[in-house]
Amino acid sequence: MFDLSGKIALVTGSGSGIGEAIAHTLARAGALVYVGDIDKANGERVAEEIVANGNIAEFIELDVSVSDHCERAASTIHNAHGKLDILVNNAGIGHVGTILTTNSNDLERLFSVNVRGMFDLTKAFIPKMIERKYGVIINTASIGGLLAIRDRIAYCTTKFAVVGLTKCIALDHALDGIRANAICPGRVETEFVRSRLAEYPDPEKAYKEMASTQAIGRMGKPEEIAAAALYLASDEAAFVTGTALEIEGGWAAGR
Ligand code: NAD
Repeated sequence: MFDLSGKIALVTGSGSGIGEAIAHTLARAGALVYVGDIDKANGERVAEEIVANGNIAEFIELDVSVSDHCERAASTIHNAHGKLDILVNNAGIGHVGTILTTNSNDLERLFSVNVRGMFDLTKAFIPKMIERKYGVIINTASIGGLLAIRDRIAYCTTKFAVVGLTKCIALDHALDGIRANAICPGRVETEFVRSRLAEYPDPEKAYKEMASTQAIGRMGKPEEIAAAALYLASDEAAFVTGTALEIEGGWAAGR
């Protein structure tokens, strides 16, 4: 089950956190994984760790918010392998604020990474996927792409857009052999959450509150999100497209 031998994958934002766990998990299942990140040191570290574990990976430096970088990444991978089977659009950034404390520059900054980057990178890879009649696209959204989260107006706005983008690609290209799905994590212990906590006056209190939003009373682990990505990437999920899969410890169960 979940054999990705011979598949070529690109995971953005895989120098840390959820993306790092997805890169390791897909590589363990046999895929050649491109570790895509704006952070060269961490991206190279993750690729080296995957190789040290006996699997196949390469680092590719890219800022998804720069269209040229997206096109360059597609050329590099297509020139080397003639294809990309699995695109995991995972790079994302956060922000704390209501409409009163968020300005339009904050919104644009989040939009350029969380949405436009995903749009541009998918646009760069999808023609070849259509030509080959095969492609799996996995977009990291958030539970904040399905429900409002207090104090996260810019973030939730972009993540609702990610869910919409994913569903449109799934519908438009279902007959082209392409599956597109979103993953909607609850809170997961990563650098992303640690830097949000640092924005609160009492980070310890904020940590407890954030843990308690999950019905099971704790935050998730990156590996628990990566397991869902592995399933969606595999041919076992051949009948799954256009979904927004919640992996959130029961956050939304009572709503
Ligand atoms: P993280 O901060 O640990 O890792 C994010 C990675 O993305 C970093 O390596 C960073 O260098 C990279 N990155 C940032 N901007 C980039 C850009 N412009 N181009 C390329 N790479 C870039 O974060 P994480 O918690 O692993 O989050 C990953 C994804 O999961 C994000 O889309 C985030 O919104 C989403 N998410 C996280 C949580 C959570 O609680 N951690 C919950 C729901 C959704």
